[in-house]
Amino acid sequence: MEHSSEPYNLVTPIGLLGLGVVGSAVVKAIETREKLGDSRVSLDVVASVVRDASVKRDVPVDSSKISTDPNSVIVNPEIRIVVELMGGETPAFEFISRALQAGKHVVTANKEVMSKRGSELLTTARTHGVHLLYEASVAGGIPIIGPLMNDLSANKIMSIRGIINGTTNFILTKMAHEGADFDDVLSEAQTLGYAEADPTADIDGFDAMYKLSVLARLAYQTEVPVESIYREGITKIHAKDFRYARELGYTIKLLGVVQANQNLGLLPRVHPALVPLGEPMASVNGVLNAVEVEGDLVGSLWFQGPGAGPNPTASAIIGDIHKIATEAVGKQIIRKELEPFVIASMEGHKCQYYIRITADDRPGVLANVARVLGDAEISIKSVLQKDTDVDNNRADLVIMTHPARESNMQSAVGSIRALDTVACFDSLIRVETYNS
Ligand code: NAP
Repeated sequence: MEHSSEPYNLVTPIGLLGLGVVGSAVVKAIETREKLGDSRVSLDVVASVVRDASVKRDVPVDSSKISTDPNSVIVNPEIRIVVELMGGETPAFEFISRALQAGKHVVTANKEVMSKRGSELLTTARTHGVHLLYEASVAGGIPIIGPLMNDLSANKIMSIRGIINGTTNFILTKMAHEGADFDDVLSEAQTLGYAEADPTADIDGFDAMYKLSVLARLAYQTEVPVESIYREGITKIHAKDFRYARELGYTIKLLGVVQANQNLGLLPRVHPALVPLGEPMASVNGVLNAVEVEGDLVGSLWFQGPGAGPNPTASAIIGDIHKIATEAVGKQIIRKELEPFVIASMEGHKCQYYIRITADDRPGVLANVARVLGDAEISIKSVLQKDTDVDNNRADLVIMTHPARESNMQSAVGSIRALDTVACFDSLIRVETYNS
């Protein structure tokens, strides 16, 4: 068989569904690369679809190529690759399905549709002999889908652990470094464009949950529905939790974690966690993302970089387009696990816990709390008494436990809340366990 060493020199016609922040960055990056003459693949944006075609856009696309008619891209016979950059489940699912059925390859940055409907879409792609690539849907510019899909295929993946939401990492970093309150930092993040006007998807952990579902499905070749993922956001974290955590040798991060346990199954979870200050994950700051993958052959791998932003996301999208255009995708490797994974319940999760309560500052209070924890088979590792409020005769009680089962901890929380010496159960944060 002959191998050609000629560069790939055909022009690949593409169509965009969405010309917002990321779509515009993709078009601009294509144009600057063409101008510089350093594009490995020549791309031609034939048509773009938007919601409102009357909006004036700062993109190098002729207005005659922008319309509100999805068919101008989906069934356009000129277009070979459809790039979906609208976001959300609806109508993205329908548009991607129709494009695949029309024989187009699709590249998407849409984590929501890939987490909720990804399996259906990937099946449609296989049935119609076309590719559906989605590198940009998780961790923006960081190549993580490609490695899980191909390069790490020899491994049994033991765990994936990551900071996969830049907005919350920006907020938590500011709170940690400046002692700032959650609401103030959220406003600042919104002003800087790091958080949406409606920040729910980020701060309540939905965005990280979508991304974790996509990573887990790929790593374990099993469905990990978003409903099966334990999810908790960062809204209840207080500035003083960072102060106390640091004193104990930790910082606080929103983690997305999935671990395979032979007896319990696969446990996917998104929640704030105390991370030991010495762990690399504790130093991933600002809008950066990081993903740690542990494979049985390769050991621990570390991926870090910009998890969002127009240019990093465009980098991942154009990389996927190049793979398809140069026919570098090949067949996706489908790995066979010995047994399909069961999704484990959070109830069985075992870890150390950080507890902060506001309690009466008088003898016997700690003994009461310790008794409740003891009844739930939870032993105390250390206790700090802080911020005594003399006027109200109250103090913060910060308790670190030894490893305990989640179900036991939840029942203890109810009993501690019921103690009449406890004014408020303020925080319960899980401590992330590292093997090393
Ligand atoms: P965006 O700025 O809101 O842009 C969305 C684009 O889609 C707009 O051009 C909009 O049209 C168009 N659109 C939306 N609904 C439509 C509909 N029903 N029919 C036709 N066009 C429609 O969003 P973005 O930030 O570029 O994000 C796009 C995708 O990339 C999302 O899946 C997002 O999760 C993902 N992503 C974004 C980032 C990031 O840093 N922004 C990073 C990684 C992944 P109009 O312009 O007329 O409103």
